Amino acid sequence: MIITFYGVRGSTAAPGPLTAKYGGNTSCIHIELETGHDLILDAGTGIRLLGRELAKKSTPTNILLSHGHWDHIQGYPFFEPIYQPDRDIHVYISIESGRKLLSKLFDQMDGTHFPVRASDLPSNSFSKFKGIESELYEREGIQVVKQQLNHPGGGVAFKINENGASCAYVTDNELDPPNTPVTNYDQWVNYLHGVDVLIHDAQYTEDDMPHKHGWGHSLISQVRQLATDAEVGTLVMFHHDPDRSDSELDEIQLENEIYLRSNRTPTRSVCAAEGMTISLHKPVLGGETRVSIN
Ligand SMILES: [Zn+2]
Ligand SMILES: [Zn+2]
Repeated sequence: MIITFYGVRGSTAAPGPLTAKYGGNTSCIHIELETGHDLILDAGTGIRLLGRELAKKSTPTNILLSHGHWDHIQGYPFFEPIYQPDRDIHVYISIESGRKLLSKLFDQMDGTHFPVRASDLPSNSFSKFKGIESELYEREGIQVVKQQLNHPGGGVAFKINENGASCAYVTDNELDPPNTPVTNYDQWVNYLHGVDVLIHDAQYTEDDMPHKHGWGHSLISQVRQLATDAEVGTLVMFHHDPDRSDSELDEIQLENEIYLRSNRTPTRSVCAAEGMTISLHKPVLGGETRVSIN
């Protein structure tokens, strides 16, 4: 699979000269599967540019939604394939999130908040609540394993395995929430153990606390500890705070490298940036997954 980042920002879009390097669009990731088909993780503002690329294809598009907060659905009305006659778009929502989340996605296209109504779109939208795992396995040959997020309003993490190469998408998630977690730290370590690539919410620094404790996001220091404990291959720090500048992210990147080196862990870390691609390939004859970042 080839993972490309189209939106890496959390909470709200943050364009401007201070965020030009890492990008200001909100959550959206594209995964090109080995079949050449497309899997999209979340529909934040980053999905607009991705839509321009996918409009050149005619194959079905698959979208997995983590939850219904604005920064994860707001780009959907600007996703070009939804305006293509008879284009098949499969939107997958976990049964735990259910119809309420789907209505959030489409209700923003109600004629009041957006001029085009969802009911007037010429594409074919297939909304799936149940059987995400079995249907994606049958249609695309990938295994998807879910885990409940610690986040206000709930949400779901996805672990995707394609022919032995694995990637986990865990946003928005507070590893140490003030109340009893839906998924505790040890469960996260088990769920993520050994994944090749972990994309995790890393929105806050210690300076954001205690004010933002309970807002549903993790400290950068907690996330790199998790990646170490779960022995993941590559940690991708994701869902950057809208106020985090490029220079601050450069510093965080450096701090992470020093931390991981001093702990003698083989895990490597990178801050997600728009346009960044990560290629995962499991050799046919077995052995370690090859991971390359560009
Ligand atoms: Zn978010
Ligand atoms: Zn959220």
